[in-house]
Amino acid sequence: MYDIIIIGAGPAGLTAALYALRANKKILILEAKTYGGQIITAHMIQNYPGIENISGVEFADKLYNQVKNFGAEIRYETVLKIDENRNVYTSKNTYQAKAIIIATGAKNRKLGLEEEAKFIGKGLSYCASCDGNFYKDKIVAVIGGGNTALEDTLYLSNIASKVYLIHRRDSFRGEVAYYNELKQKDNVSFVLNSNCIKINGEDKVESIVVKDNNSNETTIKVDGLFIAVGQEPSNEIFANVIDIDEKGYIIAHDDVCTSKKKIYVAGDARVKKLRQLTTATADGSLAATMAISEIASQNAK
Ligand code: NAP
Repeated sequence: MYDIIIIGAGPAGLTAALYALRANKKILILEAKTYGGQIITAHMIQNYPGIENISGVEFADKLYNQVKNFGAEIRYETVLKIDENRNVYTSKNTYQAKAIIIATGAKNRKLGLEEEAKFIGKGLSYCASCDGNFYKDKIVAVIGGGNTALEDTLYLSNIASKVYLIHRRDSFRGEVAYYNELKQKDNVSFVLNSNCIKINGEDKVESIVVKDNNSNETTIKVDGLFIAVGQEPSNEIFANVIDIDEKGYIIAHDDVCTSKKKIYVAGDARVKKLRQLTTATADGSLAATMAISEIASQNAK
């Protein structure tokens, strides 16, 4: 029996682990892939208080090492389901805990084009910091209007010869500071009020077709396409036990409490207004603190 099982080793999950370990709790972190979560795709983080500049990978490594140094137990197993008694079933084992913290984050949203899957890894990427270096002095396009798309465009503008930023509206959801910086770049072109409706190519991306609000279609020759149209949660496996909204996010009250006592949620997986590193780590610390106090009140009974 663990005190707390934390599902997901991104910033929210690892921060929860840090707080729980510092309170001497017996914890298990379960992670399906690799630690760090989405932040490892950030080429540069500049909005985390106290740290002026750090890459996502470096941030994840530092947090992971911090948690490991406190003796964290991490197992790389995919969680298949949980139940009301806080049993956690993975591909390999079944575990039980006094409390569970779900910190499963979100995954990249697909654009929804038929040919999208065919081009993944063949000129199409969802991660500029992972794949951007393949496009030195080449032409690329980024699709999206949030912080990820703006940051990716900025990053790619320092590598590629030309970057098209394609967005379906004429204003950006992302921070104006990024937009202002992009406007100074000679090799960045904004393609606004436009959607990418087709990707062309034999065995790799060669061009894309964009359609504007007036139904005019334009073919743009590109070597690479970066899709940055947001994230989607993957919370279906928890739906039998806790409430989830129509978009798949976990409904939370008091920030991190789910509809089921002793099951908490931290980070991007929950309904919230701002999904950023600061809010993910804040959730992790709060979820662990609430779980610790719930366990203490249980023990006192
Ligand atoms: P996001 O903020 O949800 O933005 C997604 C963008 O993609 C929106 O501009 C949206 O257009 C567009 N979009 C969605 N579906 C589309 C489709 N089918 N076709 C074309 N365009 C589509 O996602 P994000 O940029 O990945 O950011 C996610 C969260 O992480 C945000 O809270 C963001 O602030 C945060 N983040 C923070 C940082 C940072 O703090 N440094 C960096 C990256 C991300 P509309 O605007 O028209 O809806």
